[in-house]
Amino acid sequence: SSVIFDQMQKKMTELGLQNEIQLVKTGCFGLCEKGPIVKVLPDETFYVDVKPEDADRIVQEHLLKGRPVKDLVYQYDESHKNVKIENIPFYQKQFRIVLRNCGVIDPENINEYIARDGYKALEKVLFEMKPDDVIEELKVSGLRGRGGAGFPTWRKWVFTKDVESDVKYVVCNADEGDPGAYMDRSTIEGDPHSIIEAMTICGYTVGAHQGYVYIRAEYPLAIKRLEKAIEQARELGLLGKDILGSGFDFDIEIRLGAGAFVCGEETALLASIEGNRGMPRPRPPFPAVSGLWGKPTVINNVETWASIPVIILKGGKWFSQIGTETSKGTKVFALTGKVNNSGLIEVPMGTTLREVIFDIGGGIKGGKKFKAVQSGGPSGGVIPAEYLDTPIDYENLQKLGSIMGSGGLIVMDEDDCMIDIAKFYLEFTVDESCGKCSPCRIGGRQMHNILDKISKGKGELEDIEKLKQIGRAMQKASLCGLGQTAPNPVLSTLRYFEHEYRQHIVEKK
Ligand code: SF4
Repeated sequence: SSVIFDQMQKKMTELGLQNEIQLVKTGCFGLCEKGPIVKVLPDETFYVDVKPEDADRIVQEHLLKGRPVKDLVYQYDESHKNVKIENIPFYQKQFRIVLRNCGVIDPENINEYIARDGYKALEKVLFEMKPDDVIEELKVSGLRGRGGAGFPTWRKWVFTKDVESDVKYVVCNADEGDPGAYMDRSTIEGDPHSIIEAMTICGYTVGAHQGYVYIRAEYPLAIKRLEKAIEQARELGLLGKDILGSGFDFDIEIRLGAGAFVCGEETALLASIEGNRGMPRPRPPFPAVSGLWGKPTVINNVETWASIPVIILKGGKWFSQIGTETSKGTKVFALTGKVNNSGLIEVPMGTTLREVIFDIGGGIKGGKKFKAVQSGGPSGGVIPAEYLDTPIDYENLQKLGSIMGSGGLIVMDEDDCMIDIAKFYLEFTVDESCGKCSPCRIGGRQMHNILDKISKGKGELEDIEKLKQIGRAMQKASLCGLGQTAPNPVLSTLRYFEHEYRQHIVEKK
């Protein structure tokens, strides 16, 4: 896309359009399947699958002569009605809170964030709200942690706020490690200031003056944009000493993770920031009370942070009207696998899997039959076709043997083998296990060996029961979330597709 941008800029300069038309590099539009995307405003023409050689045509025909390049426009029609983003099926059932600025603003220009009410929530908090008012707004909103477990955000904040301590910390968990997940990366790449603003609001609320963003080193663009955003916010007095003249000090530093999946677990992440090996420790004490260097620490993930400025500005009540009884607001998913429109989506909680996969995702590739969807990455489980009409929320996914997780949704079709899927995820967690506790270290390997045997046609029928027993023991006895959830892909495929395991065992003999 950089090549397309440069070529368009060159052509615009050649034609003398550079002062009349502004060319902006934005974050992700979400419709990854059709990228690179060029959107022309104000008419909202949506160009998809743009190639470097198309750049000149768009400038020459559309920008200069006002004639859209029909063959590149998504859903072209003469009336121009269908090209608008709200008429594109991929976007119709979406509702964007977290991704509100992604694909809209230039993330490297703080003024564009400010122009869309950026830092207004911070100003409101600093000058019109007391810490307890912020907590109350979060409580009314019903926001729950988007990192996986769904713990009420206001509760975490209140724990930290109420502890007496000279030093407290605020941490953003951007250590996104699930295969197929890229929600955090895209959010930071597209809207880094929303994280900075939210963390500063939290600092004021709980009495912390230092924040850390823990982000994977494999995300160079997100890191670059975050660094730039921090610098710009400091320059404008929105971060650092005496923010906006309020007398409140807060600053943020970035810490890079080396790609260990276990460092997404809160206590391992904190150990890694401290410079120690990223290994989980037993809880309690919880980080909200004793976290970074033993000090009270609020830790939330990228998506949770990005929702907060909107909640402050529009009110907790507004947010609580979106979603279901127990799960409020929206959820961002990375929709991938055998689906026509793979991409980054944001939907109100309570949207059904069918709406996500068929209305937004455009159905299954090649007209094949839907078989299952894996939610929650390696910690989640498969959900088969009979549950397509289940509204997505924390409780419903858990009842089905999966979890919300951070938001990966991998769609599988009739050709996918469930044993291979289970083996793939287990291989991942076995590799990523830190080895500290034996249920996870040994149990994971045992399960993997059995799966390997079954997939090679050497399994026994009693292996099925063994898998269930070891899996249940790991869920109960592992020290951290990684080990407790690692058996989920196996147990859920056994729950819905045990016949496939049996076929492998019996037929391959
Ligand atoms: Fe380490 Fe696994 Fe135990 Fe977690 S459950 S502490 S990852 S060995």
